[in-house]
Amino acid sequence: MIEKKILIVSGTHGNELNPVWAVKKFRNLINTSPQSNSLEFILGNPKALEEGLRYIDVDLNRSFNVLKTASNQNFYEVNRSEYLISKYGIQGTKACPIVIDLHTTTSCMGTSIVMYGRRQRDFCLAAILQAKFGLPIYLHEKDVNQTGFLVEAWPCGLVIEIGPVAQNHYDSEITERFLIILSFLGDLINNLENNKINLPSEISLFVHQKSIDYPRANNDINALIHPLRINNDWKMIEEGDPLFLNIKNETISYLGKEKIFPLFIGEAAYREKNIAMSFTKKEILKCDPAWISAFLSF
Ligand SMILES: [Zn+2]
Repeated sequence: MIEKKILIVSGTHGNELNPVWAVKKFRNLINTSPQSNSLEFILGNPKALEEGLRYIDVDLNRSFNVLKTASNQNFYEVNRSEYLISKYGIQGTKACPIVIDLHTTTSCMGTSIVMYGRRQRDFCLAAILQAKFGLPIYLHEKDVNQTGFLVEAWPCGLVIEIGPVAQNHYDSEITERFLIILSFLGDLINNLENNKINLPSEISLFVHQKSIDYPRANNDINALIHPLRINNDWKMIEEGDPLFLNIKNETISYLGKEKIFPLFIGEAAYREKNIAMSFTKKEILKCDPAWISAFLSF
């Protein structure tokens, strides 16, 4: 049996400063308290952080499943992902079965949870955090264009994503939100083992359907996110609602028949991935008590 520690990763993207600051402050505050025994901390991408860049060679948070080849074997992030798994992964020298990866976004996502796939342990953790803090959950699944996320390399893991905040910008209101969650996580395993936390009856999810790109002409973006859409993440839209406003001031509307909820609207880092926003559908699941036993069964 391995020690049930939660690994807290900050700075997976080197231009997201607030998680790094929050962790630094939190560690200072907890010092040698019992919370410090249940958590482990690591900087995801220290080199990118030093440079103020999202990444050096490739996105670290898409590098946890890449096959090493002659062309990528010297990529900083490919080697960094191997190091992180070899040290903190389930077989690692400082193994942590659970990971929480802290991120910020330029989109108006508020404080939110991102989960990848439908693992029981992830459901357990996400349901508890949702019930405690009222956080919306983006279930990012079945997206063949985006894989290799850090938390998928651990048996249990979630992303906490807070925004909006600009890249390379400190915002103390955002760091305080991370601190509240870190403090809760510090006591979580102890509280669960002593039955001080119960699962809620339901978990509410925003399930990934697809991502859409900006309208383009000859590869160049020729429309921006519509003013009625910007800052309206998690808000339902239906056929005819505006998505983009082009250079001729024409509105480009959503033409789908289904009601959907757009997320990560206009996220600055996703432009290079040809993503203007992601469409999700709402789903409510009954929580299963087996999730807690799975979570505690390391
Ligand atoms: Zn990030």
